[in-house]
Amino acid sequence: SCSMPDVAGEAKASSNDDIIDKFRELLTSSESNPANWKERAEELLRQSLVSRERRTTFTFGDDDDSSEESRDSSEMAAQANSSKPQLGEVLPTLERTIEELENDWNRGADLLPGDVLRLLNRGKAKSRELEGRLPDYETAVAVRRAFVAPLDRLAKLPYTDYDYKFVTNACCENVVGYVPVPVGVAGPLKINGELPIYVPMATTEGALVASTNRGCTAIMKSGGVSAHIYAEGMTRAPVVQFERAHEAVKLKQWVDAPDNFAKLKSEFDASSRFAKLDRLEVRLDGRQAHLRFTGKTGDAMGMNMISKATSQSMKFLQSVFPTMKVVALSGNSCTDKKAAAINWISGRGRSVVADCVLPASVVKSVLKTTPAALAEAARAKLDSGSAAAGAIGGSNAHAANIVAAVFIATGQDAAQVVSSSMCATRLEALECGSLYASVTLPCVECGTVGGGTVLPAQRSCLEMLGIAGPSPATCAPGTNAAALAQIIAATVLAGELSLMAALCTDDLVSSHLKLNRSRLNLYETQSAASLPTVQLLHPNMQPIRGKSSDRTIKVNCSSIL
Ligand code: ADP
Repeated sequence: SCSMPDVAGEAKASSNDDIIDKFRELLTSSESNPANWKERAEELLRQSLVSRERRTTFTFGDDDDSSEESRDSSEMAAQANSSKPQLGEVLPTLERTIEELENDWNRGADLLPGDVLRLLNRGKAKSRELEGRLPDYETAVAVRRAFVAPLDRLAKLPYTDYDYKFVTNACCENVVGYVPVPVGVAGPLKINGELPIYVPMATTEGALVASTNRGCTAIMKSGGVSAHIYAEGMTRAPVVQFERAHEAVKLKQWVDAPDNFAKLKSEFDASSRFAKLDRLEVRLDGRQAHLRFTGKTGDAMGMNMISKATSQSMKFLQSVFPTMKVVALSGNSCTDKKAAAINWISGRGRSVVADCVLPASVVKSVLKTTPAALAEAARAKLDSGSAAAGAIGGSNAHAANIVAAVFIATGQDAAQVVSSSMCATRLEALECGSLYASVTLPCVECGTVGGGTVLPAQRSCLEMLGIAGPSPATCAPGTNAAALAQIIAATVLAGELSLMAALCTDDLVSSHLKLNRSRLNLYETQSAASLPTVQLLHPNMQPIRGKSSDRTIKVNCSSIL
């Protein structure tokens, strides 16, 4: 219910909008002095938003407002005598003490954004409470921005025109805006003879999309790529402990018996219509045991789903082994978001292989090299070099570049690039003269439902690929997520071909200098006169001499590449 008996509904709505607009305007346009920005932000907000009439427009859901009425009756009388304030007019401040505001806040009453900011600044309200206490998510974000930094410092971090309902309690906390990342497309790319697609890549690495695009052209001219899932299963591995090792051995023997596995599976599968337990491996470490559950999760990447399902199975296991102590539901042999040989060897998420055969003529016309040169570079770099580095799942050129870009564009969990980009790349010169190229990615951890896939922009990228959300009813659950894994592998192949070719022809540095370096004068901020005269902290921090137009990052960093 809305406690504003004296204001008509429509007028309320528009006045509310006006206030929010004004508030946003203040947040984005005001200049602030770093020395007193908190006070200045508060003052700006209070001057414009503190009238009784305007305050009431923010009073939502307060059923017991008798105390509010009596406390503010004198203010209201004063208000009634004055003429109706115009929007933007600076009104006299109606003082309310911090104690008054704090009391109102603590009893759950609604406050003006400016007053909430005053409480935040004094540690009387918590940043995390804003979304639940202000009239809309965007206002909550706006108040938090005024709380965390001088307003002008955040001016270029956008926060309007974003549907925060998909974010709150789902994707991010303490939100102050969103970082726009450019999205390019690589393609067309024909996978398994289907209609060609364009693959969205969100990146700030210049040359990456162009290079992947070149790889797509080579693949298209060679008839397309074939990509197949050869294993599937998200994993979660709790660690448990007994008093002595022999009990852990008993646990392993019990779990390994097919009848007992079936009992655990029925608990696991009952937790979600999409969770299906396929394997459970037990590894011992003295009196501790690591139980790695592997199961299908439909179109979800599956970490939430598999954790819930594992927890349900573990409750059952606990009833069979009362002395077992579950030390952690995630015991690191899962392994999520850490480089680990177990993922490389056993797989996680979807295991995908993609390959194609490129005629020598295409290798020459598009990639400007030869199958033999590519095969030689692959042996030296991908086989010998990766071995020399002791790489785990790293015998590839830059799979992570493509995986990260597609992950970010399509709302995947970016940290899972760690395992998802494990990739073996193979380039072989065939006797017929063509080039055989393959990539094998055993751990593509991706989904088309859940997580960041629900965010509108990310969902659009999935829509573009025709695989947003749950798989159609005519397909098995997981078909969409599998298609995404196949697309990622196919695009990785394109990226690998192009970068390996660039290495063969020594184009890497020149194309990066051309496409990966801004020629805008980005960092011209300090004049020589304003450079500090005090001792610099680092011996390399020399003041830059010369005309002011020369003082750019290009001058500073010309030796990096
Ligand atoms: P994750 O496990 O990837 O973190 P969640 O479990 O949080 O994702 O989100 C998946 C949710 O989507 C679950 O509630 C699940 O029941 C629902 N869902 C709807 N359709 C599907 C589908 N086709 N595949 C998997 N989950 C689905």
